[in-house]
Amino acid sequence: MRFHVLTLFPDMIINGMNTSITGRAMERGLIGLDAVDIRDYADNKHMRVDDYPYGGGAGMVMQAEPVYRAFEAVKTRISRPVRVVYLTPQGRVFNQELAEELAREEELVFLCGHYEGIDERVLEEIVTDPVSIGDYVLTGGELPAMVMMDAISRLVPGVLNNEESAVGESFQGNLLEYPQYSRPAVWREKEVPEVLLSGHHANVERWRREQSVLRTAMWRPDLLKKAALTPKEQEMINMVNK
Ligand code: SAM
Repeated sequence: MRFHVLTLFPDMIINGMNTSITGRAMERGLIGLDAVDIRDYADNKHMRVDDYPYGGGAGMVMQAEPVYRAFEAVKTRISRPVRVVYLTPQGRVFNQELAEELAREEELVFLCGHYEGIDERVLEEIVTDPVSIGDYVLTGGELPAMVMMDAISRLVPGVLNNEESAVGESFQGNLLEYPQYSRPAVWREKEVPEVLLSGHHANVERWRREQSVLRTAMWRPDLLKKAALTPKEQEMINMVNK
C-alpha cells in the first residue's frame, strides 16, 4: 500500500505516520508514504495558495491551481487510475467497512483541506471519495487523513504481528469486541472472570461471544440491527431490554 498525501503540512503527516506500528510498517516497506507539499506548486513568488472567497464571508479558500498541479505531479508516480479521498466534514462517514474496502487498493491519494476548504472546481475535477471522520469540524484534513491511514494500514497483510492481530476486533460482524483483561488476576479486589482462567477454549469463546453481543446491545444498539444473531442470542437481548 502506498499513500500519497496532498497537504500544506507534510511534516505533520510524516511525523505522525513514522510512529509506532505504522512507522515499523514503513521501515519494513509494507507501507509507502509520499507527503506532497501543495505550497511547492504555488504559481506566485510569495508561495501563496489561498485567497478570499468569492461572494464574501469569513476565512480563506485554498485555490484550485496549486492543488491541481500537486495532484498532476503525484499522478506521474502512479501507473493506474487511483481513488482520491478528500477529507471533508461533508463526506461519507468513515467506518471499518470503508477501511476494509480501501485497504484492497494498491495506492491511495488523500487531499487535506485547510481554512474554509478548497475551491470546488478542483474537487469536481480530481476527487473520487469525499470522506468525513465524524460530525464535527477540525482545522485541517491532516488528522483525518492520519486516522484513515492508520485504520487502513493495520489491515494491510503483515503490518500487524500475531500479538496485534486485527481478527475479531470491534465492528467485525457488526459487534463490539468483548472486554479484555491482563495480569494480575486480582486487581484492587476486582477479579478477572473465572472462565478466562479455566483454560477451556470452547467456554472462553462462548463467553466472549456472549459479552460481545451484550456489550453491543448496551453501547451500540444501532450496530446490533445489522449483526447476525442466533435465536438464543436474540432472546438474551430481549431479556436484557425488558
Ligand atoms: N468550511 C468547511 C465546512 O463547513 O464544511 C470546513 C472546513 S475545515 C475548517 C478545514 C478542513 O479540515 C476541511 O477542508 C477538511 O479537509 C478538514 N476537516 C475538518 N473537519 C473534518 C472532518 N470531520 N472530517 C474530515 N475532514 C475534516
